[in-house]
Amino acid sequence: MKINADRIAGDLDLIAGMTETPGNGSGRPTFTPQWAEARDYVIKHAKDAGCESRIDSAGNVHIRQRDFGWDKSAWLSGSHIDSVPHGGKFDGVTGIVVPLEILRAAAEAKLTIPLELIIFAEEEGTTFNLGMLGSRAWAGTLSMNQLDKLRNRDGISPLDAGRPYGVVADQIGTDVIDAKNYRGLIEVHVEQGPAMWEKNIPVAIVDAINGRRQFRCTIHGVANHAGSTPMTYRYDALAAAAECIVGLERFPAMLSPAAVLTVGRIEAKPNALNVINDEVTFSIDFRSPSNEHLEAGAKAIRQAIVAIVSRRKLTADLIETEVLPAVNMDAGVVSALKAAAEKAGLKDVPTTYSGALHDAAILASLLPTAMVFVASKDGISHNPAELSRIEDIAQAAELLAAVVTQ
Ligand SMILES: [Zn+2]
Repeated sequence: MKINADRIAGDLDLIAGMTETPGNGSGRPTFTPQWAEARDYVIKHAKDAGCESRIDSAGNVHIRQRDFGWDKSAWLSGSHIDSVPHGGKFDGVTGIVVPLEILRAAAEAKLTIPLELIIFAEEEGTTFNLGMLGSRAWAGTLSMNQLDKLRNRDGISPLDAGRPYGVVADQIGTDVIDAKNYRGLIEVHVEQGPAMWEKNIPVAIVDAINGRRQFRCTIHGVANHAGSTPMTYRYDALAAAAECIVGLERFPAMLSPAAVLTVGRIEAKPNALNVINDEVTFSIDFRSPSNEHLEAGAKAIRQAIVAIVSRRKLTADLIETEVLPAVNMDAGVVSALKAAAEKAGLKDVPTTYSGALHDAAILASLLPTAMVFVASKDGISHNPAELSRIEDIAQAAELLAAVVTQ
């Protein structure tokens, strides 16, 4: 079977043109005409290569070779075709056109292969304010009632917006994945971070996906006059928050280069020009691929805040708002990919972790799962400037093809 890199480049260019914002990046919210155009493009090209498709109740598209059929166990590979507003052309789409090319190459080589291409409906979370809808619904972890509460920019729920595209509301929850139909899942995706590009690593095997701990911290001080309160008499909640934020920014490096922490939101009260703030609330988003580090980090966050506010004679409430464990990829699939890399003559394919969440994280508890990353130029993503090299994407395709045809 011969992977054709030009065909992959052609797919990426054509799908990039299916956007609400021509000339200004990919704009493909889920269940819109542009999203459907991109989805139908993939279905058509797969059909031309001897495949057939079916759409499940959540709106995910499944594609297999007609000769292979639906009753045998296949490798599952796919990603998403929706984008953030003004997104890049590689995020998600790369993981769709790679298995598409493998299906085309197999047809040319007259090979029947155990591969199912999947297009997950809504991954980014920007259409309905919740990410990975399609994979969650298919995994059975998102009910019709939960979906019914979500709304897009037009105030329409995914159940209604998806109806013209195959969503069948009352079958969600029963039309779910049957793990025995699958050997495992391999999602190809661009890295969306700078590490591989910097080290000149074209493709890498992902063996863990970051877990996430999120907190809401409120610091209580005393409001007072900005002019008549001496510096030694202050209980300044905003200054304490500033010290916490700078301290927190430094601590992930002590755990591991893979740990990251972000304070993304802050609110000060009374937030007035000449008043010392008495209440400041900020968010903390802490991620790591290691559950041990997530645990240690959560403890360290608490200790650091308590130490800073008590030295300043203030108090703080720290509420943990989300606990998502890190997801380890399946050791068997990771070693199958490593073996395939060696066999295909790709030298030095290292393992890495994923900082961002993906559909693979949702299905990892149900199927043996791993991911293949392709380097992102300068780590830029969710931006029209997003770029990955076609030859790197073709290498990822060779890797996936080698595992599927083993
Ligand atoms: Zn993505």
